[in-house]
Amino acid sequence: MSHGWHLGSLFLFFFITACGGSGHLGWKSLPVPIYADATIMNSNQAMSDLQDAFRYWHQKAGKQIFDLRGEWTFGAPYSGSPTKPDAILGNVIFFQNPWPYPGRYVGMTTVQNSDNGPVAAMVMINGANPFCNGDCLHDRRVSTRKTFAHELGHFIGLNHNDDPRDIMYPDATPGGTISELKVDEATLRLLVSEG
Ligand SMILES: [Zn+2]
Repeated sequence: MSHGWHLGSLFLFFFITACGGSGHLGWKSLPVPIYADATIMNSNQAMSDLQDAFRYWHQKAGKQIFDLRGEWTFGAPYSGSPTKPDAILGNVIFFQNPWPYPGRYVGMTTVQNSDNGPVAAMVMINGANPFCNGDCLHDRRVSTRKTFAHELGHFIGLNHNDDPRDIMYPDATPGGTISELKVDEATLRLLVSEG
């Protein structure tokens, strides 16, 4: 790993984190390769939610951002601790169990940055949390679809937003479909502009 790389802000779902929004750089080339763990790949419902989350971002960005390459089969996608990784070994979305954070956090995205922007990112989903699939209307559990989409927003480089109708609102709010959730399109456009 090159000298000077550092791990970016830890993003907490359910939690407002302070991080500089305007200085964020996007990924250098799109689409970004990403892998999913066996828990997601082997579940039709989880895969459907993941594809819906990708589609959400591709529609909002007007271009393909994520390129799902298949199952991550190389063990833990980080070295060191999941909460303070020494390195992120691949762009992976995966269920983490045991969950190393308080149970009220349902997802955590960690981005490894160079001076030129992100070089790797991992999306940890709370493997102990009782999720429901789809948009979870009339269900008190948290939606995997919306959790995936929210965390993938951090993957892209978006920060939290205080508008409860925004996908980057830090609380996993029940109700509403993913298609009703909006995004800061100006910032998104900057992040996916490449170069
Ligand atoms: Zn978040």
